[in-house]
Amino acid sequence: MPQLQNVVEQIENVVGTKYVTDSEPICYSYSMNCDSVLQGIPDIVVRPGTASEVSEILKIANKEKIKVIPRGGGADLTGGAKPIGNGGIVIDMTRMNKILDIDEANRIVTVETGISWSELCEKLSRVGIGYYTGSTGPASGFSATVGGGLSNNSLGGGGAAMYGTVTEQCVGLEVVLPTGEIIYTGAKANAFCEKPFTRFGLGADYSGLFLGDVGIHGIKTKASLKMYAIPEYAAYSTFEINGTKQESEAVIATKVMTKWQHKELPLHDFYYYTKTYINMLTLFGVKKNLANAGVKGGVLFYTTVADSQRALDYNVERIEKVTKEAGLRKLGPSVEEGNLGKWFYEEDGRWQWANIYWGLLGPEGTSLGTCLKCPTYQLPDYVKLYQEFANKHTKTMLDIGGGGVNFIVIGIHPCYIDITGGIMLHTDKRYREKQYEIWKELLIAQIKELGAVHYWMGEIIGRSLVDAGALTPEYYNFMISIKKALDPNKILCPGKFYLGDQY
Ligand SMILES: Cc1cc2nc3c(=O)[nH]c(=O)nc-3n(C[C@H](O)[C@H](O)[C@H](O)COP(=O)(O)OP(=O)(O)OC[C@H]3O[C@@H](n4cnc5c(N)ncnc54)[C@H](O)[C@@H]3O)c2cc1C
Repeated sequence: MPQLQNVVEQIENVVGTKYVTDSEPICYSYSMNCDSVLQGIPDIVVRPGTASEVSEILKIANKEKIKVIPRGGGADLTGGAKPIGNGGIVIDMTRMNKILDIDEANRIVTVETGISWSELCEKLSRVGIGYYTGSTGPASGFSATVGGGLSNNSLGGGGAAMYGTVTEQCVGLEVVLPTGEIIYTGAKANAFCEKPFTRFGLGADYSGLFLGDVGIHGIKTKASLKMYAIPEYAAYSTFEINGTKQESEAVIATKVMTKWQHKELPLHDFYYYTKTYINMLTLFGVKKNLANAGVKGGVLFYTTVADSQRALDYNVERIEKVTKEAGLRKLGPSVEEGNLGKWFYEEDGRWQWANIYWGLLGPEGTSLGTCLKCPTYQLPDYVKLYQEFANKHTKTMLDIGGGGVNFIVIGIHPCYIDITGGIMLHTDKRYREKQYEIWKELLIAQIKELGAVHYWMGEIIGRSLVDAGALTPEYYNFMISIKKALDPNKILCPGKFYLGDQY
């Protein structure tokens, strides 16, 4: 197509011939990632090296009226990093992966957003006294980038009980707006400010406009994040929870979590694997140590950190007082005896647990993710909702890819928990639409019946929110007004939340 060739040439003038292509196999490969959202194949894939190149590409896209989709590691599970429908330009950010500044005095690190969380944390660990980003990104952090994590409001790769989502660690951004202008948010919005050090001030929280936005408001090219000294002391234990006639497993887990929250105990990480999930692990022969440890119920593990042995012992005493009072069985201290906490903290479990979770069905498995935050007291309601969904759809799920539905709790905050999970099925083109349909049904049930707050929106979750009528007309109009002001030509990620269709 001559017009396409012309656009490729214009982009070549910006990034050079090596970093842009319209080759069919490459474009096709960028229509795929871990999720099974109906695949949109881009026309062009480009890998810029600087913010000004990103800016020039967006200017060309505006001139030519071509849609643009930013992509980090492509580890999104909800269709966020590929076009909705065919066509458009995918901007792959992974060449922009440098650490630009490590400000030890202010404990702030500034990076290009295409760096992965694991690379960033690994490099930080070798600087000075040894640092990390506190909340260390999503569990997909071996491939997921800082830009993707900030756009998806991620957590799950460790440190979330203490530091929350990665967006909470952000103190400023460099963003290329959909029309190509480059701005800084946070302290660096002051042209005379030397280094980023706070997100607030100089007007509203404009960083917030781009955090968790799934890329619809701009392309993040640099991010400044808080960094912390790696704790010198850490402890971790794992417990079995069994339901009783009087109280279900979920009710007991909820009580333990709530007590931890109310006492504000110093948890660094917290995970709860339901009995159903443990049964699945056992069924697939994964985590044999849990079977060897005679685990029949669910499992809960925590990690805690401190800067002295005395402080650590005190943490453990307070945290485990709660598990003792709840009558939970403590597993042995080694990984072989079932101590998932040790595996998680010491043996890369923080960036491996999800591979086990989502990878239960092997390389042909597909993950229909439904991860969300909810008030802790709702945990038993979610168990019920998933159970009802499983009862209703077991046969259908077997017919269209043979998997199941499940979740685990991956974090605890002072006032909410994170529930991660969804439907696991085998990838099968023939069933993609049917898989999409039941996935959406589960999302809409979470949204409508329990007021779920999902943290990645991608394609399917953002649209489910609109379809469920969850966004009030006033809120949705507000979203439209912002989007229209920033992106008058509907260039950036059109279709997410159905935005772009209305103006
Ligand atoms: C095995 C596995 C485990 C996972 N575990 C977790 C988890 O624990 N927690 C969690 O939150 N998620 C998890 N995810 C989902 C996903 O990997 C994360 O949300 C991750 O943060 C996405 O990062 P990414 O770089 O791969 O982004 P991508 O998938 O490339 O993109 C994600 C979204 O961000 C946008 N985007 C990417 N980069 C930019 C940028 N620079 N500027 C603007 N927009 C941008 C994209 O358009 C897209 O909407 C998991 C996925 C897998 C496969």
